[in-house]
Amino acid sequence: MDFKFTLEEEALKKEFEDFFREEMKNAPPEWGTSMEAMFGLDVCWEFHKKMAKKLAAKGWLSHAWPKEYGGQDASLVEQFIFSEVQGYHRGAGVDPWGVQMLAPTLIFGASDEQRREHLPYIARAERFWTQLWSEPSAGSDLASLTTRAVRQGDDYIINGHKIWTSGAHRADWGFMLARTDPNSKRSSGLSFFLVDMKTPGITIRPVISLEGSHLFNEVFLDDVHVPVRNRVGEENQGWLTSQMTSNFERSMIMIFSFLKRELEELVEFCKETKKGGKPLAQDPFVKHRLSQLAIDIESGRAYAYFVVWNQLKGGLISAGPYAAAAKVMATELNQRFFYTGCEILGMYSQVKESRWAPMQGRFEKEYQQSPSLNMGGGTSEIMRNLICSLALGLPRSW
Ligand SMILES: Cc1cc2nc3c(=O)[nH]c(=O)nc-3n(C[C@H](O)[C@H](O)[C@H](O)COP(=O)(O)OP(=O)(O)OC[C@H]3O[C@@H](n4cnc5c(N)ncnc54)[C@H](O)[C@@H]3O)c2cc1C
Repeated sequence: MDFKFTLEEEALKKEFEDFFREEMKNAPPEWGTSMEAMFGLDVCWEFHKKMAKKLAAKGWLSHAWPKEYGGQDASLVEQFIFSEVQGYHRGAGVDPWGVQMLAPTLIFGASDEQRREHLPYIARAERFWTQLWSEPSAGSDLASLTTRAVRQGDDYIINGHKIWTSGAHRADWGFMLARTDPNSKRSSGLSFFLVDMKTPGITIRPVISLEGSHLFNEVFLDDVHVPVRNRVGEENQGWLTSQMTSNFERSMIMIFSFLKRELEELVEFCKETKKGGKPLAQDPFVKHRLSQLAIDIESGRAYAYFVVWNQLKGGLISAGPYAAAAKVMATELNQRFFYTGCEILGMYSQVKESRWAPMQGRFEKEYQQSPSLNMGGGTSEIMRNLICSLALGLPRSW
């Protein structure tokens, strides 16, 4: 294992760092890393869009794409470096659905016409996306979804109910899974659609989170007409299309590097803040908690490097169980980190929007938001199931 970057990679890293260090000085005080602030607050959404334009101008929204689609064929290592730097600086501007999920899917699974129609808008940050997959009775068991798409001439007529749709209220377009064959078993009867969110028949209703932010939505689809040309892949083969994100970095390095920065700031706070006349940093309880977090973050970062190293050697499939393990490690560490931070800050950690709120009340907010990371993109239990079957060869229990 050799984690050393080449001179060119070091230079690129510096370019990313200079950019994010400078540009993130303009971030609104409410900006965090969580999607809650980005989608929930107008000021953060506007900042995110401005940053997206700047990243687009540098070609960094599409740098991982093949050259023939306007990208720069950036290697996995270069993608990894970008994510690490972006995470550390809490960098705005990358649409998690359009850039990170849909674009790879279009590159590997769409027609040329669809790529021409959608990729340039994503690369120029002119179209923002949302993911219309989960339903009230289909989350972990996504293949049981019941939203129905019925072919009628040149259109599909879609009826159904989606939920937990992050940022649907901000998105221009959405990508959706719907059932085209009601008689087929589970995943084999689904198709993958691209849907203009302004299409008549779409109603978006906010779902307000525990801590008061507007990230999630319910989306109701009532006789929504979607042209057949907006189906990606073959009819009833949507499951296959939804899995096509190979060759893109899946190490969770963004969370580990974000936590590294959070730890640096927590350590500074502990050095500067006195309790009973002594700096918090002299308290053995605080010191041990901080050192444990430092150990966990460094282990996590090393593991993320290992995941990418595996992807480089054997592709995404070989990295599958490692990527699942990285998700469990990163999201559970994130939760422990903010819990520990709240313990160290004591009762003050619960104060927000006040001059008495340490670190702008960030720990209180991040702690409340942290369990959601364990769920989004597949829960820790589902990730553990994957590790059992893919890495340990244990029998499936569901
Ligand atoms: C922050 C966040 C953002 C999201 N954004 C989107 C989005 O934009 N678009 C979208 O479509 N969806 C989105 N989701 C939904 C997300 O994909 C689902 O919440 C997730 O798949 C879990 O589904 P569920 O909530 O229905 O829980 P369920 O599937 O009902 O699970 C409930 C509990 O049972 C456990 N469980 C279920 N099955 C098993 C099993 N086989 N073995 C062991 N335990 C099991 C789960 O781990 C969980 O603890 C988002 C969720 C979050 C938290």
